[in-house]
Amino acid sequence: MPTGVCRGCGAEIVWVKTAAGKSMPCDPRLVPYWERPGAAGKVVLQRSGKVVSCDFEGPRDELTGFGYISHFSTCPQARGFRKKR
Ligand SMILES: [Zn+2]
Repeated sequence: MPTGVCRGCGAEIVWVKTAAGKSMPCDPRLVPYWERPGAAGKVVLQRSGKVVSCDFEGPRDELTGFGYISHFSTCPQARGFRKKR
């Protein structure tokens, strides 16, 4: 996966290809997620590129899996960054 640096905050990011064929800037470490339709959180699955609505906290034994969280969700500069793109 190509890596890069966020133009907003300087954090390291990876470009994850989504099922839609777009590259999405994500945080480089995989995060645990709990899939829930309609949830505010989004992760991209590494193998399929599928974007899943999820929560990032939940009961350990119901963990759905691990995925990449969009850097837009964690970037302290996300508001300005998003406007520019
Ligand atoms: Zn950033």
